[in-house]
Parts: sequence; C-alpha cells; structure tokens
Amino acid sequence: MTAALIDGNALAQSIRTDVAGRTQALKARGITPRLAIVLVGEDPASQVYVKHKVNDSQQTGLEATLERFPADLTEAALLAHIDKLNNDAAVHGILVQLPLPKHMDAHKVIERIAPAKDVDGFHVASAGALMVGQPGFWPCTPFGCMKMIESIGYNLRGKHAVVIGRSNIVGKPMALMLLQQNATVSICHSATPDLKAMTLQADVIVAAVGKQNILTADMVKPGAVVIDVGMNRNDQGKLCGDVDFDGVKQVAGWITPVPGGVGPMTRAMLLVNTLTAAENASKSV
Ligand code: NAP
Repeated sequence: MTAALIDGNALAQSIRTDVAGRTQALKARGITPRLAIVLVGEDPASQVYVKHKVNDSQQTGLEATLERFPADLTEAALLAHIDKLNNDAAVHGILVQLPLPKHMDAHKVIERIAPAKDVDGFHVASAGALMVGQPGFWPCTPFGCMKMIESIGYNLRGKHAVVIGRSNIVGKPMALMLLQQNATVSICHSATPDLKAMTLQADVIVAAVGKQNILTADMVKPGAVVIDVGMNRNDQGKLCGDVDFDGVKQVAGWITPVPGGVGPMTRAMLLVNTLTAAENASKSV
C-alpha cells in the first residue's frame, strides 16, 4: 500500500484564500486586521521566521508590523511595550517571537499579552480554554495538524491517536484537540519504555520529537494516519521530519511530507488566528 499524501502547501493555500476573502469583508467594514510581531535580538532562525510571518500576512491582506528591539532590551521595557500593544485597539494580534534573550522570563512575557490578542495561543488563558473546551486561540502547529486530519474527512471518534512528544506548544495541545474530537489519546515521551508497542496500536500518529527516523515503517499499523511535525536536518543538511517518510508511506494510509506538510500549515493558522482576533474585536465594538 502507498499512503495518500496530505499536501500542506495546497491546504495552506486554500486556507490563505479563505483568510484573504474574510479579510476583505472585514476591511469593507472599516477594520484592518493587524498583527504586531515583536522580535528581540538577532537570532538568525527567528529573523527568517518573522520575515515569513510578515510576508504571509501582507499577501493575504492583513497588516503586519515587525517591531525589532536590541538583545539587551530590558524585560521591563518589553513588558511596557506589550502593554502599549494591548491597549492599542488597532492591533488585533500580538506575537512575541521565541526564543527571547536569556535575561528574560519568556513565560512572564507571554503572560503579559492580552488573551484576546494571543494569536500564538501560548498564554495560559489560551491553554486553559483548550483544556476546558471553551473558545480561545489554539497554538498554530497542532491547530494546523487538526486541519490536515479534517481535510481528509477522517472521523476521529473512537480512534486511537498516539502523540509522540509532550511540549506545551505541540504535543500537549495536540493531545487535547484530538481528545475533543473523541479520539482515545496516548501521549508518549522520552520515558515511554516501548514506543513501538504504542504506535503499532495507533490509528493516528503525530510525531513531534525533533529526531530523524523516530518513526519507522515497522512501528506503523497499516492504513494509519501519520502526521510529521518534526523539523530536522539530515546528513546532507536537507530539511526532514521525524518520520522515515519513504518507509512509512508504504504502510500508512495517509502521510504528511517534510517539507511541505505541517510547516506551511503552522504559518497559515497564524493568519487564521489573527483574523479571528480581528473578527472578535469587531463584534465587541
Ligand atoms: P521539544 O520541546 O524538544 O519536545 C520534544 C518531545 O519529544 C519531548 O516531549 C520529549 O520527551 C520527546 N522525546 C524526545 N526523545 C524521545 C524519544 N526517544 N521517544 C519519545 N519521545 C521523545 O520539541 P517541540 O518544540 O515540541 O518540537 C518538536 C519538533 O517539532 C521539533 O523538530 C521542532 O522543530 C518541530 N516543530 C515544527 C513546527 C512546524 O511548524 N513544522 C512547529 C513547532 C515544532 P520529554 O518531554 O520526556 O523530554
């Protein structure tokens, strides 16, 4: 069997088209969705990420401002800047690019963002809303994974989903989202004694570890849905995921590629969250 590909590029494009349409509708009512991206320091990877976020926003009609600060900015100054953005009615979404310089407490900084503008979905209010099934911003990566599963018309009810990885931004929220769709969910991590025994039971596997080939063909039940969140560099320096794609695609029913899978979906879901923040704000005026 050869798995069907879940094409993150194509799905992200259709989401961007939808966002562009909804953005036009909002603009026609005099509201321009606006995302403020805050970058502190010169981290090279962060510089690339924020550039993509600004470009993605502009291409869909959203306004995005990139606010750069030197690495020696004090935490107090950053908090004061977030207060300013929180109080600016023209700003609908605030994203503080992580990692922050070591002298800053990232948790404290994220907690300063108004939950209504927390488009990254990292605030504890967003995490809590997801936990209790209330409306709130979902972190973009697992949100994108859920959209990928939805795109193939897969009914998660009663299915066994195994999430490998338990970070606050991917693994844990992913597990909660799957649970909300009535899947039975197992979360695996570095202390899981027999990962293969777990994944072989799974109808859906989400790999979010950051290790190449953590999931190989012998660990996958025939027909399973395999979502690869990992972003690694292989021996040739090429971008690859956590899944042995060539092997696993012979066994799985559906599979996401790297690149062209979860990455573009993560970027698309930031646009969705920003637009939603603007739509929510427009309802409250
Ligand atoms: P993280 O915080 O480092 O978490 C990695 C998780 O993997 C941890 O929970 C860890 O377990 C678990 N783990 C490590 N070794 C394991 C093993 N041998 N067996 C089972 N579990 C193991 O990473 P993250 O931020 O969640 O990111 C995970 C990957 O996704 C990275 O490659 C990252 O670059 C990628 N990512 C991609 C996107 C995207 O847009 N495509 C977005 C975010 C992240 P413990 O908790 O026990 O340490």
